[in-house]
Amino acid sequence: MTQSLLAELAAIVGPAAVLTGPEQTQAFYNDWRGVFAGNAMAVVRPQSTQEVARVVALAHATRTPIVPQGGNTGLAAGATPLGLDGAILLSLSRMHRIESVDPIGNTLTAQAGCVLTDVQAAADAANRLFPLSLGAEGSAQIGGLISTNAGGSGVLRYGTMRALVLGLEAVLPDGSVVDGLRALRKDNAGYDWKQLFIGAEGTLGIVTSAVLRLFPKPRFQTTALLGLASPSDALRAFSRLQDLLGDTLAACELFSDTTVSLRSAQQPSLARPMAAQPWYLLVEAAASLEGTRDAFEAALATLIDAGIANDCVVAESQRQSDELWEWRESIPETEKRAARSAKHDVSVPIVDVPRFIEEATLAVETAHRGTRVLAFGHVGDGNVHFNVLLPDGDAVRSDAVNATVHAIVTAYRGSITAEHGVGRYRRDELPAQRSPQEMALMRAVKRAIDPLGIMNPGSVLAMPPGAGSTSEYSPA
Ligand SMILES: Cc1cc2nc3c(=O)[nH]c(=O)nc-3n(C[C@H](O)[C@H](O)[C@H](O)COP(=O)(O)OP(=O)(O)OC[C@H]3O[C@@H](n4cnc5c(N)ncnc54)[C@H](O)[C@@H]3O)c2cc1C
Repeated sequence: MTQSLLAELAAIVGPAAVLTGPEQTQAFYNDWRGVFAGNAMAVVRPQSTQEVARVVALAHATRTPIVPQGGNTGLAAGATPLGLDGAILLSLSRMHRIESVDPIGNTLTAQAGCVLTDVQAAADAANRLFPLSLGAEGSAQIGGLISTNAGGSGVLRYGTMRALVLGLEAVLPDGSVVDGLRALRKDNAGYDWKQLFIGAEGTLGIVTSAVLRLFPKPRFQTTALLGLASPSDALRAFSRLQDLLGDTLAACELFSDTTVSLRSAQQPSLARPMAAQPWYLLVEAAASLEGTRDAFEAALATLIDAGIANDCVVAESQRQSDELWEWRESIPETEKRAARSAKHDVSVPIVDVPRFIEEATLAVETAHRGTRVLAFGHVGDGNVHFNVLLPDGDAVRSDAVNATVHAIVTAYRGSITAEHGVGRYRRDELPAQRSPQEMALMRAVKRAIDPLGIMNPGSVLAMPPGAGSTSEYSPA
C-alpha cells in the first residue's frame, strides 16, 4: 500500500519531490524548538495548486492523513506529524512565486510558500509596505502565517494576518480547489469563508495562494529604547505615547533585563544598549509627514521629565534601529540557547498586563523552585510571552508550571495562545479555555469541511481513535 501510494505521489509531483530518506526528512519532522520529533510516510513538495489538489484528492481516496507545513517555525507543534507515521507531510516550500504587486490597489498576490522577507521586499520594491514583521520572518511562509493568524510587532497599527488577507485560494480536504483570490476591500456577498481558514492551523484545508493588503510606506521612521523600573511604567509610557503621538506610534515592545543579561553573557563582545534597567520598552514611530522625529523626541523627553522612564536611547540611523530591534527579535534564540523553558504565549486585557506579569512571576517563582521568568511581549496588544526558564534536571515539570500560569490567565479572562495557535502543544488545554458551545461550534465546522478527518488530525482538536485512517471524523 505504502509503496503504491508513494509511486502515485511521485507520478503527481515528480520523484525528486517525494522525500523519504531520514537525512532528507528529519528537518521537516522536527519542530523549530527541537522539542517535538515526529515521523511520516513521506515529505511531498508540490509546485502548483493543481499538484496540491491532486495530492489531496489521492489522500482523500486512500484516507491518508496530511500535515501541511510552511517554514516550520510554528511554536505549537501544528506542523509536526506526531503519532502519524502513515501521513503525508505536505510542504509548500516550492510554491514561492510572487504573482503580482499592485501599488494602486495596494495588493500583492503570492503563493503560499513565499517567505515573509521576500514578500516584504517585493512590496518595498514597489514603494509599499507589507507590515507583518516577526522574528522568524526569514523562514516563515505566507501559508503558515495565514494558517496561524500570525501577529508580531506591527499588530498595534496594522492588525494580525486576519486584517491583512483580502483573498484566498485553498484546497479542500476532498481535493477540490476553492478560488477566492479577490482583491476587494468591500465584499459582503455571503459568509466570509476565508476567515475560517485564517488561523485554522491546516485543519480545514491547504492554503495555496493569497491576495495580501499593502500600505503606503511611512517615509519617516524612528526607533527608541526606554529604560524603565516596571511593567506598570511601561503601560504608563504606552498610554502617554498614544496621547502624544496618536497613530504614528507603530510598535511598543516590552522586555526585561533577564533577557538582556542572558544575551550579553552569551555574546560578551556585544555592548549593552544602555546601562542596566529592570525593564526596557522598544518603541517605534512611523509617519509619512516630516516632523515625526521631532515629535517623537519631544514625547520621549516628556516621559523622562515625568519620571515614567529612567533612560532613553534614540536610534540615529537605520543600522542603530536594527541593532535595537535585534535586542527584541533575538529573545527566542537567546532563550533557546540558555535553558529548557516552559513557554506561554498569553494575552490579557492591556490594562492588566503589569498586574498579570507581577502576579504570575511571584506565583511561578514561589511554587516552582529554581525557575526564572523571562517575560516579554507586544505590550500594546496585551500579548505577553511569559516564558519560564527551568532548572536542570526533572525537579520542575513544565506542565505544572503551565497550570500555574494558565490559571492566572484564566482568572483575567485572557487567552492561553495569543498568537502561536493551539496545534498539538495546547490542544488538550483548549476545552478548559472555551465554553462547551464554542467547542461544539469548532467541531461542527471541522466535521462539515473535513468529515474524514484527514487534514492535520490531532492538531487543534483531539483526534478520535482511528480518525485519519479509516473512521469517520466525529470528535467527542
Ligand atoms: C524566532 C521566532 C519568532 C516568532 N515570532 C512570532 C511573532 O512575533 N508572532 C507570531 O504570531 N508568531 C511568531 N512565531 C511563530 C511562527 O513564526 C508563526 O506561527 C508563523 O506564522 C509560522 O509560519 P510557518 O510558515 O513557519 O508555518 P509552519 O510552522 O510550517 O506551520 C504552522 C501551522 O500552519 C499550518 N500550515 C502551514 N502552511 C500551511 C498552508 N499552506 N495551508 C494550511 N496550513 C498550513 C501547519 O500545519 C501548522 O499547523 C515565531 C517563531 C519563531 C521561531
